[in-house]
Amino acid sequence: MPELPEVVTVVKLLEPDLINKTIKKFEIYYAKLLWRNEIEDFKKRVENQKILKIFNQGKYIIFELENDVLISHLRMEGRWNFEPQNTLSYKESWLECQFILDDGFVLRYYDSRKFGTLEIVSKESFFNGSALAHLGPSILDPNLTAKQLFEKFQKIKRPIKSVLLEQNIISGIGNIYDNEILFATKINPLTPANEITLKTVSKLLTNAIEILKTSISVGGTTIHSFTPKQGVSGGYQDFLKVHGREKKECYLCQTPIAKIKVNGRGTYYCPKCQK
Ligand SMILES: [Zn+2]
Repeated sequence: MPELPEVVTVVKLLEPDLINKTIKKFEIYYAKLLWRNEIEDFKKRVENQKILKIFNQGKYIIFELENDVLISHLRMEGRWNFEPQNTLSYKESWLECQFILDDGFVLRYYDSRKFGTLEIVSKESFFNGSALAHLGPSILDPNLTAKQLFEKFQKIKRPIKSVLLEQNIISGIGNIYDNEILFATKINPLTPANEITLKTVSKLLTNAIEILKTSISVGGTTIHSFTPKQGVSGGYQDFLKVHGREKKECYLCQTPIAKIKVNGRGTYYCPKCQK
């Protein structure tokens, strides 16, 4: 599943190809992709608008047009690709929609699992915050303090492993980095969030920022299917210290790494370092 570093990487790779291009034609092959809009309305609004900017908000990819904003979420296997019209980079059955641009190239959305979503909202509702009002602050928000995070955790008794994945509390952490952040901070994944001290929350925040920024700088993690662009692979899998290492020795103490499920998600940890 694409996580925050992968989303940031996709945005960086698409940006130079799309900025200031005008959408000439929109075509859709999988109607459920547009879960909140009528297809005809979406088409009418999006055609002949110029793409001004691309950025991410948490794990959402935002395409800013002249009058509206497109909000994309890749979920499990979604991928955007900029390519020549006569070249399909992935299977045709994965193709859900395409935007034909004024330079003759095309922006395509492929999704083998069909869980991804796309919607169009007015700029006003996006920038006044109502479109993504359910999202908590980004873990990489420079204004986020350890004290604020600690105070949020004080009200929550659920395991910290699950809480870090809840995007309405804090956005931008997915399962791989959740495992890595808890290992780096030496927190047991089952610890109730309200039992973590301010000092430890402060370490957790520092580690989270460092891990995510390192991953962004090397282009994300390639596990299963994610590749940010044809021929470009993420490099963070070489840095993973605990995720995917079940029964292998802990790099710090040689204890075998354990794997459990927490709220249905694969959770890797060192039973000795993360007591
Ligand atoms: Zn260990």
